[in-house]
Amino acid sequence: MAQVQRMSRLMVKTLRDDPADAETLNHKLLVRAGYVRRTAAGIWTWLPLGKKVYENVARVVREEMDAIGGQEVLLPALLPKEPYEASGRYEEYGDLLFRLKDRKGSDYLLGPTHEEIFTQVVKDQCSSYKDLPVILYQIQTKYRDEARPRAGVLRGREFQMKDSYSFDASDEGLAEAYALHRAAYQRIFERLGLDYRIVSAVSGAMGGSASEEFLAPAPAGEDTFVDCPECDYAANTEAVTFALKPVPADGHAAVEELDTPDTPTIETLAEHLGVPASATLKNLLVKVDGEIVAVGVPGDREVDLGKLGEHLAPAEVELVTAEDFVGRDDLVRGYVGPQGLEKVRYIADPRVAPGTSWITGANKADKHARNVVCGRDFEVDDYVDVVVVEAGDPCPACGAGLKLDRAIEIGHIFQLGRKYADTFQLDVLGQNGKPVRVTMGSYGIGVSRAVAALVEQTADEQGLCWSKEIAPADVHIVAAGKAVQTELALDVAEQLNAAGVRVLVDDRAGVSPGVKFTDAELIGVPTILVAGRRSADGVVELKDRRSGEREELSVADAIARLTA
Ligand code: ATP
Ligand code: MG
Repeated sequence: MAQVQRMSRLMVKTLRDDPADAETLNHKLLVRAGYVRRTAAGIWTWLPLGKKVYENVARVVREEMDAIGGQEVLLPALLPKEPYEASGRYEEYGDLLFRLKDRKGSDYLLGPTHEEIFTQVVKDQCSSYKDLPVILYQIQTKYRDEARPRAGVLRGREFQMKDSYSFDASDEGLAEAYALHRAAYQRIFERLGLDYRIVSAVSGAMGGSASEEFLAPAPAGEDTFVDCPECDYAANTEAVTFALKPVPADGHAAVEELDTPDTPTIETLAEHLGVPASATLKNLLVKVDGEIVAVGVPGDREVDLGKLGEHLAPAEVELVTAEDFVGRDDLVRGYVGPQGLEKVRYIADPRVAPGTSWITGANKADKHARNVVCGRDFEVDDYVDVVVVEAGDPCPACGAGLKLDRAIEIGHIFQLGRKYADTFQLDVLGQNGKPVRVTMGSYGIGVSRAVAALVEQTADEQGLCWSKEIAPADVHIVAAGKAVQTELALDVAEQLNAAGVRVLVDDRAGVSPGVKFTDAELIGVPTILVAGRRSADGVVELKDRRSGEREELSVADAIARLTA
């Protein structure tokens, strides 16, 4: 049987003050309440109370992964470099990867995620389509040498992740495994009590097609996402696209050249002409795999280089430098306009739609041109939504003005496809006796990060505030201090414990009631039971940690309530 947890014996040292370097709520409160301890930057020790909460999150994740047929395994964190070299990620990960050598000088790494190793496991274990589908998962320690490991356990350099991988012989199978994971993630985050959104994501370095992120809105989050106040559209900022809407091109006057001395920037130009920046067309020059390309966006908008890079990948995008203009008389720096750019590929944002008219560079020093009409005076080679999304931009689903919010990425699901199966030639024998290339999905939940996200979303001024499923105990009993109160507290604790209720009892001698109450609020167990003034009469007080509601009850009634 579980034991009553006694504060007099529990290793928990609460702190009145926030740690000096703490910026986020989870960092402040988890340290102050004695749940975690910082060992080094981004490297954390889970103390007894913290370990309980962590395990509760892990249990919910396990139960829901088992429910979709996931089989739990445990792979090593210390990995040989060869599989990651084969996939290209040994290089691609750059500084994020912890690399090390063994005594013989062979190269190893600490696993940041395990697609390569799981692929090898399945190649070794499964040989026929009859061995599939398979979903494997683990809850394991991951290593990433994050540039700025801040924010407590939200972003660690060592952290715990549930990662799972699906293996199927067909695309339909992958779609099904993806749907199973998506539904399991919804149940997990609901059970954890996290407020979350599912947003379509760009899959980045993972490679692959369909991908969604689970985001927990919180000011401490490092992701910005767009949220529609009118419909259920939510998306990663980089995934928002603006629809191309051509407008009638007729009725525009002919192109007219304007003298605009000393106006190499949009601001100087707009001021000189007395027009809003949005009436001007800004043409950013970049190098795509070494070739100069112009990118046109409305003058009041910024180009999102990340978004541009995603669209043009695997081509490399760089900004141009003064040297790139040497010998290029067609490119007049600061006065570029698409109407004269014959030798340059022109990419434009969909806001630069056919039929729209602009003020833009005249391709001559100190001169601009007005009435430059898209489709009449210049052509766009490729439309790519490349502007930084802004609050108020239209929702792609319903047209309402979008909001921008901060969030924590708590989970990520990918349909990887055959990228890793190709690398490792993972085939199974198909129904017709011919080999079939396996298709994969990979799915992650930050288990330690979920603890942080819960704190960010649920804590209040007094401290942590856990839901029952996640709390380190169901009831926190406070013995106000006198012998009779401690006796009653311990007695109630034993009775509740015998009934299967998880109890933490503050039986510390020589600690003032005030300190005990403050600690109970800080530790955040959902129900606080106080053996106080009326202990001698067999009356205790129950307090709901979240709502603050209090009630005096007889011991018998209190026990009945808590064991109901
Ligand atoms: P981020 O953008 O926050 O760096 P990521 O996109 O690199 O995360 P994934 O590779 O998708 O992360 O990892 C799966 C999950 O693991 C994430 O959704 C997140 O919950 C968690 N995770 C990733 N990096 C960390 C970290 N440094 N500390 C704690 N949890 C992390
Ligand atoms: Mg991710």
